Amino acid sequence: MTTMRAAVLRKWNDLAVEQIPIPDPAPGEVLLRVRACGLCGTDLKMVSGAFQERGWPPKLPFVIGHEWSGEVVALGEGLDDLELQPGDKVVAENHVGCGRCPMCRRGRYNLCEKAGTPGYRLYGHTAPGALAEYAVRPAQMLHKLPESIGPLEGALVNQGSLGVHALRRVEFLPGSTAAVFGPGLLGLLTAAVASASGAARIIMVGRGSRLDLALKMGCDEVVDYEKEDPVAAVKRLTAGRGVDYVFDCTGNPNVPAQAIGALRRGGRAAILGLTGGKRSEIDVDRLTLDEIDVMGIRSSPNAYPAMIALMRSGKVDVSPLITQVYPLEAVGEALAALESRDAVRPIVEI
Ligand SMILES: [Zn+2]
Ligand SMILES: [Zn+2]
Repeated sequence: MTTMRAAVLRKWNDLAVEQIPIPDPAPGEVLLRVRACGLCGTDLKMVSGAFQERGWPPKLPFVIGHEWSGEVVALGEGLDDLELQPGDKVVAENHVGCGRCPMCRRGRYNLCEKAGTPGYRLYGHTAPGALAEYAVRPAQMLHKLPESIGPLEGALVNQGSLGVHALRRVEFLPGSTAAVFGPGLLGLLTAAVASASGAARIIMVGRGSRLDLALKMGCDEVVDYEKEDPVAAVKRLTAGRGVDYVFDCTGNPNVPAQAIGALRRGGRAAILGLTGGKRSEIDVDRLTLDEIDVMGIRSSPNAYPAMIALMRSGKVDVSPLITQVYPLEAVGEALAALESRDAVRPIVEI
């Protein structure tokens, strides 16, 4: 067999399942059978062409998909001493840095200075994604999954790892308070990781039925921003002081100002969403006078093993988040469910 089924983006807003060649693993690469692939807001924007200027994707046709899990099929040349064997279940990181620039050498390969050159790849964005039966990846981007983590759960490791990276960046301390804005998959997993990391109290800001899911994922309080001003609500819940940390998981340009408004003096804000180029207005005097730290969070360098360990131990249970699963042929339906907010994370089983 030399071809595989794949969801191919041939023109904007048109994802069609068709047969394309199975990729060959180059030296140092591994051929993988994809088992499950989640679809996120970035995928929606890519399908619509909203990230064209950024070069995501660089050209059409293109295969998207960057939140996935799979199984090792075959090893390329030069991997004789690799610990992975055919049949092993794995997840794959997407940022492949050059390995040589100052950022890569500090372990911050998500900020590789060669971004935009052939030495750098961001799979599912600038290099082929995983919404297909097979994919190839450099061996160093793979992490083995234990037997207890199934393929659908494995597809959530990517977003959970982003939460792990955010908590590390803000130097999250046990016993502290946090507010998470945006109960999408990323916000819910960030809350769950914060809970597992010793948060004393987590407040989720959002709306609708996803707030019920937030309570299942370790949040202590929820604020419906359609019913109450979120900054006033967080202040009310924290004796007027504000929380120690905020995590903006919305990608909405109006939210950073609210998130910063909900912080106590000396608090830290992590911004995890992309607005698609829109600008935000924030109160700069407040940053200075109250020594507020604002941090951007990009991807999840070195964080996959921690997320896998949290899931394996049961400290983070992702099962309430797996609600909508689609076959590859229904990828259009999966995207529509995401767009209409019906699904927190539609997962395509392949
Ligand atoms: Zn994503
Ligand atoms: Zn680099």
